[in-house]
Amino acid sequence: MTKILLIVAFTIAIVLWFKLQAGKRDELPRKEKTSEDMVRCQVCQVNLPRSEALLSQGKFYCCDEHRRRAG
Ligand SMILES: [Zn+2]
Repeated sequence: MTKILLIVAFTIAIVLWFKLQAGKRDELPRKEKTSEDMVRCQVCQVNLPRSEALLSQGKFYCCDEHRRRAG
């Protein structure tokens, strides 16, 4: 019984986490369900579609501020 509660709590945590991530980019319509490549920001480690990422010297960043911070 405890295991079930753990699974339920874990599932809720994942759902909340995804909602948090979605909320950060609510200006984007839901079109990223396709097979677009996901890349990771070198500064904050957030995952984002490659088309939204900033590429600098072979590394991806989520925003201009992080790109500048990294170098
Ligand atoms: Zn970042």
